[in-house]
Amino acid sequence: MRFEISKVLDAIEGRVCTDPSLARAVLDLAEIIRYQDIDGGRPASLLRLGMVIDALSRELEEDSVQVYAVVHRALLSDADLTSNERMVVRRWADDGLVEVLDNPGDRMLEVADLLGLPVLSRVRFDGLRGRFPWLVEQPGRVVAPVPGAGGPVFIAHVGGGHAPVAGKRSPTGAKLLARQWRCPESGCALFGGGGGGGAFADLAGGADRSPAAQPPPSLRNGVPTCPRHGARLGDGGPRPRAEVLAVRVGGLVRRRFVLSEEQPVVAGRAPEQDGGIMLGQWLNDEARRWISRGHVRFELRVGEVIVTDVSTNGSGIRPAGSMNEADRIPLAPQQSRVLGENDMIELYPGVQIGRAEELPTGAPFTPTSVMAEAPTMAMRLPRP
Ligand SMILES: [Zn+2]
Repeated sequence: MRFEISKVLDAIEGRVCTDPSLARAVLDLAEIIRYQDIDGGRPASLLRLGMVIDALSRELEEDSVQVYAVVHRALLSDADLTSNERMVVRRWADDGLVEVLDNPGDRMLEVADLLGLPVLSRVRFDGLRGRFPWLVEQPGRVVAPVPGAGGPVFIAHVGGGHAPVAGKRSPTGAKLLARQWRCPESGCALFGGGGGGGAFADLAGGADRSPAAQPPPSLRNGVPTCPRHGARLGDGGPRPRAEVLAVRVGGLVRRRFVLSEEQPVVAGRAPEQDGGIMLGQWLNDEARRWISRGHVRFELRVGEVIVTDVSTNGSGIRPAGSMNEADRIPLAPQQSRVLGENDMIELYPGVQIGRAEELPTGAPFTPTSVMAEAPTMAMRLPRP
């Protein structure tokens, strides 16, 4: 049983990030893990994070949905968690997957404000509605995870609506995210890479984090500040541009990924390149035979997404997402093309990649649960 639980925690690990382009909602981990009414289990359990992520996935009708978690420092030594859970949270903190704060205060709302994300919380934020008017003005910007028949569901309790809805990045957020930032604290997992570097730079956590994936700084008296260390951040120049692409297999968005100017991304059955996007797990036998290990390469150049077929069998472009066979433009091996705003590249019928916001979902949706490995005991639901 212990083994299965760590497999669930590994799966959950893939769903927490502080990347402004990938996070789909923000939450306070200390709050979520204490939703005892969701499963009637222990006072605190990290598995509840997985249940809430699954609920978000169902709601957004998308797989591999990621959340931005702020974590109170006290949680790293919370006796209500198992030692294994504490160790896992510490690892997430060291890797910059979650944001650890001495006093989370209103950081969760600040992140939601800067990034335009919905907030998953049962808190009512009465005193903060003046500072963050969207709390009440935009339905769905705050939804509370509550027990439901098949796991948690969301109810709106501040601004109305019934499903989590994203807003827009605030003007301040857009400005902050146009730059890259450096924390003077060496080995800062969130804004690393600028702490002097040197011989041990690659041993320090976060030192190899792409500047395109840096979280939003915290603003303290108008000064960009490291939320973790409270230190004033240095301006490291313009942030590399980035586009969010999404993989759709069989009509469902399976995952998103970031393409930045810094480096190309290869997608295929099982790419060998660093940061490659592996599709194999979603493919049937025929598609696996057709799609090469590395099948297409994406590059972002002066704001254009360039796609190059690097496969044996070739692929095709679906202009403006058209499913009409007559519109499909073949892309032969080694051929390149600019991917238009609404275009999708099709590696094999039903296996497509395009800009995330343009990819329509379609088919009835059953997301892959991060809890798939969870022992049934942990999934026990309260009796009605
Ligand atoms: Zn820092």
